[in-house]
Amino acid sequence: MRKDFSLEIQRLVIIAIACLVIGFVTHQFLLSFLLGSLVYIGWSLFQMHQLEDWLHDRQLSTIPDASGIWGNIFDLLSRDKKLQIKETKRLKNIINRVETMTSALNDAVILLDKNQCINWLNASSRDLLSLQQSDVGRPITNLIRNPLWVNYLNKGDHSLPLVLPSAENIEQRLEFRISHFGDGESLLIVRDITRLCKLEQMRKDFVANVSHELRTPLTVISGYLETLEDAMALDAPWKKPVQQMQQQATRMTALINDLTMLSILETEGLNKKQEAVNLLPLLQMIIDAAQTLSGENQHKLILECPTDISLIGNDRELHSAFSNLIMNAVKYSPPKKQITVSVAINDNAGVNVKVIDNGYGIEHHHIHRLTERFYRVDSSRSIDTGGTGLGLAIVKHILARHDAQLHITSRINQGSTFAAIFPEERVAECFIENKQAKLQ
Ligand code: ADP
Repeated sequence: MRKDFSLEIQRLVIIAIACLVIGFVTHQFLLSFLLGSLVYIGWSLFQMHQLEDWLHDRQLSTIPDASGIWGNIFDLLSRDKKLQIKETKRLKNIINRVETMTSALNDAVILLDKNQCINWLNASSRDLLSLQQSDVGRPITNLIRNPLWVNYLNKGDHSLPLVLPSAENIEQRLEFRISHFGDGESLLIVRDITRLCKLEQMRKDFVANVSHELRTPLTVISGYLETLEDAMALDAPWKKPVQQMQQQATRMTALINDLTMLSILETEGLNKKQEAVNLLPLLQMIIDAAQTLSGENQHKLILECPTDISLIGNDRELHSAFSNLIMNAVKYSPPKKQITVSVAINDNAGVNVKVIDNGYGIEHHHIHRLTERFYRVDSSRSIDTGGTGLGLAIVKHILARHDAQLHITSRINQGSTFAAIFPEERVAECFIENKQAKLQ
């Protein structure tokens, strides 16, 4: 039995003995026990009153003085209170440190609840987004009203960040990132990426300018080399070096053309001429050119394309993308192999354009890197075939500009399939009407 409890029992026993003695002297046992009980109840009520007062006040310095079970209750409560004060202090310290750290950040950090209302924000939110402490509790969409931001927030998929010009300064570029946690809450981090964007723009301008500046001298060199080659006798000792120089000049021209194409794709907006492009004549034209490229290798090129499929897009860009895929199939397939270009409606009512070859194939670990600039699986084979290493990077850019995706599957020595997958919105109306007519 605990000490304080036995003390309480002792106290009760003493009261009972006192009642017995008084009862014995006065011959009023019942009355004396009633009195004894009243004293004990009164004393307990007094302690309860003290406890209630103390719980209201909760000052550690005014802890009531009591013995027995009540003393122990006061001790336990004051110990809990001390622990609670210590813990609160510790948590306050942590919160202060986090607040100091986040206010030292240059990025705006904003906590949003599940209703997209601001729960908390750091000091940089004021500088970057002009938000105030008084905005806590207000919906973020009332404070940042850009429709692109509202769409992005409501879209649900926040795996990629959103880049927007700042509302205060049109030159400033802000990157919005959202991470989800807890019960529908999210953390919004906004970064100033103006410097990065400027650097990226400088890089694009540099590539575009270099490609442009190199074009003229290269055309002159190629022209002279051609004239030289024509003028030389077949057995002239300089014939072979001149031929090699011309090959290299042709390679450089191809490189410059691809670099120029890439920089045009990167710098031009998406507002290029969009029209319904019928795929059958476009692909037929590319296949005819591919057959010429194949020449003596006699690849068997097959086109499976319905007559009425048209895509909404830019004719020249689509030509360039499909041409790169089909020419690659020719370049990376042994002679006489079959290459099939098939166009079909997919399950999402979009269009799949597949280039299927039976060529050398690509090992699995290369596949996710193929669209990187200058990434080649086998450099010597790529250079032999006149490849620049930029073809698939161009394809990726063009497809992205047409809301399409590139899916690559391949098996070594069995062949590869490059599928361009276009969404339903890119399928021209005329085709949808035909499709509906067929379904009826
Ligand atoms: P390149 O100009 O070198 O062909 P690409 O960007 O078009 O550059 O292709 C990148 C690399 O992907 C190529 O070097 C080649 O190794 C590989 N590749 C592309 N298409 C095919 C294909 N159909 N079959 C096998 N490998 C391919």
